[in-house]
Amino acid sequence: MICLEKVSKFYPTEAGNYAALKENDIHIRKGEFIAIMGPSGSGKSTLLQLIGGLDEPSFGSISVDGIQLNELNEKQRTLFRREKVGFVFQNYQLLPMMTVAENVGLSLAANKAPKSEIKAIVQRLLEDVNLEGKASQFPSQLSGGQQQRVAIARALAMKPSLILADEPTGNLDRKNGEDVLKLLSRLNKEEQITIVMVTHDPQAAKAADRIIRIEDGEVVGEETNGGNRQ
Ligand code: ADP
Ligand code: MG
Repeated sequence: MICLEKVSKFYPTEAGNYAALKENDIHIRKGEFIAIMGPSGSGKSTLLQLIGGLDEPSFGSISVDGIQLNELNEKQRTLFRREKVGFVFQNYQLLPMMTVAENVGLSLAANKAPKSEIKAIVQRLLEDVNLEGKASQFPSQLSGGQQQRVAIARALAMKPSLILADEPTGNLDRKNGEDVLKLLSRLNKEEQITIVMVTHDPQAAKAADRIIRIEDGEVVGEETNGGNRQ
């Protein structure tokens, strides 16, 4: 499903190039739920951005669902992100001037789906994340947990084969965090959506099938939940 080969990412800084990721080989199977753990600054968000086609590696190759990201032009990359990947962020990243329904329907509208179809899909997605009745509210009127569930509904709108979640429970209290993890687990098990989730929280990482540990831009180990196989 996801295959990284010798992937490095350098950011230019005043002191020269900074290596945020160093020659990483990572393989993730279709339908896996992966947790990425590591200290702050170890390259976790950079890794998700590369897998999701938000940024390009400096060296190495990445394929997702059989698509070689290196070979895509800008327009193909945009379509890849919109159609294959659902992004979920720590701070939800909803558009504040748009209603819940408009936020969830954003990619569908960008893909020029008919209005009636968008409305039906959005309604079903909001039911799916337990937010029926909130369609015409604005993000600021919702709790953090509700906003994150809107963000997950938005991520699901295009039926992605992959969800990339960057600390999705990082701003939530325990109860709301658990609800979000349960939702992600259900999507993984029932809809076979591959999930790659960055988290600091060992409790959250227990939702995953496998934990990949990264330090200083390098994968330093991995554990399958239920056993350690380094
Ligand atoms: P994490 O998500 O694990 O905290 P990041 O992937 O955000 O780590 O960042 C990895 C390293 O790369 C950090 O040292 C960070 O400061 C640096 N970095 C991230 N993005 C940029 C950027 N756009 N320009 C320069 N340095 C960056
Ligand atoms: Mg980060």
